[in-house]
Amino acid sequence: MANPSNPSEIAREALRLLAVRRLPPSPDNYRALFHEIAGTQPVEALPQRELKTLLASLPQETLAQQRLARRLEQAFAASNWQQLGAGLSDLVRQIGREQELPWNELFGDFLREWESKQAGLTVARKREALERVLAGGSSGGEVLFGRLQGLVKSWSAAGPAGEDIPLLVSDAVEAGSIGLEAAGESAAAATDDGSDRSAQLRDLFAHLLEAVIGSQLANEPDLAADARTLIHKVRTATSRSALDDLLAGIKRFAFRLELLTEDQAELRAGLLKLLQLLVDNVGELVVEDHWLRGQIDIVRDIVAGPLNVRSIEDAESRLKEVIFKQSQLKHSLNEARENLKQMLAGFVDHLAEFADSTSDYHDKIEVCAAKISKAEDITQLEQVLDEVIRETKIIQLNAQRSRDDLRAARERVGETEQRIAELQQELERASTLVRHDQLTGALNRRGLEEAFEKEVGRARRRQSTLCVALLDIDNFKKLNDSLGHDAGDAALIHLATVIRETMRPQDTVARFGGEEFIIVLPETPVEDAQTALVRLQRELTRRIFLHNNDRQLITFSAGVTDFRPSDTQASVTKRADEAMYAAKQAGKNRVLIG
Ligand code: GH3
Ligand code: MG
Ligand code: MG
Repeated sequence: MANPSNPSEIAREALRLLAVRRLPPSPDNYRALFHEIAGTQPVEALPQRELKTLLASLPQETLAQQRLARRLEQAFAASNWQQLGAGLSDLVRQIGREQELPWNELFGDFLREWESKQAGLTVARKREALERVLAGGSSGGEVLFGRLQGLVKSWSAAGPAGEDIPLLVSDAVEAGSIGLEAAGESAAAATDDGSDRSAQLRDLFAHLLEAVIGSQLANEPDLAADARTLIHKVRTATSRSALDDLLAGIKRFAFRLELLTEDQAELRAGLLKLLQLLVDNVGELVVEDHWLRGQIDIVRDIVAGPLNVRSIEDAESRLKEVIFKQSQLKHSLNEARENLKQMLAGFVDHLAEFADSTSDYHDKIEVCAAKISKAEDITQLEQVLDEVIRETKIIQLNAQRSRDDLRAARERVGETEQRIAELQQELERASTLVRHDQLTGALNRRGLEEAFEKEVGRARRRQSTLCVALLDIDNFKKLNDSLGHDAGDAALIHLATVIRETMRPQDTVARFGGEEFIIVLPETPVEDAQTALVRLQRELTRRIFLHNNDRQLITFSAGVTDFRPSDTQASVTKRADEAMYAAKQAGKNRVLIG
């Protein structure tokens, strides 16, 4: 029999084969034969009832668990195995991630560093840093873990304090943040005693809640009131039942906080979408100007990428410059356009007037000619001649007036041209006030100065390392001489783009001079800054610069150094410059630490 194609033929053929092959007529054998004949793969049916019971029994204590259970149930109801699989993979991944994060070790390190005395670090300072980390921790466990780990590392890197460093407790009292009970003791007396630790933990937790009220709950009076009640309970609960009550309260509070965080994330996503829409529309309105377009593209990238304080600041300053320059251009263009329009209108009026008066003149002369041919005596002729002379004088006057008007119009055109030139100069001057380099879109010196000030302030507040790198393209003069200045310009743009796309979003990139760039790297030890610059060199080799389809290798030499307490912007730049010079001397295309 030819290959059967419809189900009843396949079924009949399956029964026949069961008999021919002498197989027991079990459902499994029948199914296997059915698929063999139909040329299909058997699909194992899932035990529906068992699966449903299993899904219903999943824990649903936290919001994330509830969300996952809902997702799995929906996938199951829709018999969407792919979706079900994806949900389970997420779960497994999540478990994996949680397992990978050694929270226990981190807390051990944290407590050790919290209790030790470090050079230049006080309890108040440590608390301030911890509050900042916790306030920014709503973006997920991993992020919080990383930030907390960074904090602990920075404390441990500060090194132990000498004996004459002020005691932790006196510091805390000065900051008005530790209870009197604790202030009565000296830090040196802080032992491993459990009750002492639990008092510290209570106090810390109460402070943490206070910080949450201040930073996260300013617009949530109900939740803030809950937090205040909890703070009171944290400080006073001692009996078992009070502690149980406290625990239940904390659970409820954490749950509501999680909901709030989700709302805020949604709000943030909505605002970001709105911002993207605005930027896209500003992009449509921008006049055809290379620099303006470049700025808008960068802002669009910033808005699309992961945001941080620095990228928002950068986007704001670029947008301000676009708006400023755009309004200047629009003003000058509108003025020039208005002047030209008026002049054209006046000119057309004059032409019409002139044409009118000349045709009038012709008519009158024709009448005079007729009169002359009909004149019978000299007096009649004299009258006609007077008329001709009068008309001719009028037309002469008209012609003269038109000529004068035209001359005046020409002068006005000249004045307008001069005004446009002046406006362009003004625009040039205004451009020196902006903060971004017009060729590459990186910060200019003025922009760098401002960004540097901010970074130094942040580094001092956080007690973190700030690095400065100065890089200079190798043999750039040769590239300029052999390929031309425009190619040189394109190479500078290429380099700035690769730097921006390779370095971290929080790194500041500025064009320091002709073919020199400065990169400011916050929260980076100097060895890591060197590694980052070497990675940039590799990236530049990979993303080779093309000129007229020819591959041109661009390399640079760089010096990196860290900002030290006694440094100014000038002194740290000088050190980076000296290291860069040493890199040139050592054979170029290398990064040295200064
Ligand atoms: P080295 O490897 O020692 O740094 O040599 P170099 O040739 O790069 O250095 P040098 O300082 O002698 O030359 C820098 C050149 O950069 C000189 C100048 O013509 C060029 N340059 C500076 N600014 C610009 C610019 O905006 N566009 C272009 N195309 N060239 C520029
Ligand atoms: Mg140079
Ligand atoms: Mg150079």
